[in-house]
Amino acid sequence: MGDHAFIVDGMLGSLARWLRIAGYDSTYFRGLEDNRLLDETRDSSRIMLTRDRELYQRSQKLGLKSIYLESEEVKAQLSHLKRELGLELSATNSRCPRCNGLLKETPKADVQDLVPKKSLNSFDEFWVCGDCSGVYWKGSHWVKIRETLGST
Ligand SMILES: [Zn+2]
Repeated sequence: MGDHAFIVDGMLGSLARWLRIAGYDSTYFRGLEDNRLLDETRDSSRIMLTRDRELYQRSQKLGLKSIYLESEEVKAQLSHLKRELGLELSATNSRCPRCNGLLKETPKADVQDLVPKKSLNSFDEFWVCGDCSGVYWKGSHWVKIRETLGST
C-alpha cells in the first residue's frame, strides 16, 4: 500500500505536505503549466492529483494515472485517497513536508539547539530531513493526519 508516488498540482500544496508526512513520495509543482505537468506524469509513472477537472480529463484521455479531488479541504482530500488507494499513515516512511526528502529519526540531544524549548519538553521523538536539514516532531499536524488516515 505504501508504494504510491504522486505528482500534486499547484492548487494542492497543503495536500502535498500532508502526503509527505504520511510517508508518500510527492512531487509538487507550483505554477507549472498543464502541458508540463502532464509530461511529468507520463515520464514518472506517478499518480497525478488535481482539483482541475479539465486537466484531469486531459490526463485521462492520454491514459495517465490521475485522480480528481473535488473538495477544497485537505482532510476530505486525504479521506478520498484513503478510500480510493488504501492510503495509510506510515510513521517509518515519513518525508519532509518542505522538500520531500527522507526523514531520519534523530536523538533528542542532537536537535536540542534546533527545536523550541516547549516542543523539546513535550516530545521525545525527533526527525531530521536528509536533504534540507529541517527538524520535525509529532506535533498537531501529525495528530490530524493520524485521525484522518488511521495509524499503522
Ligand atoms: Zn527537507
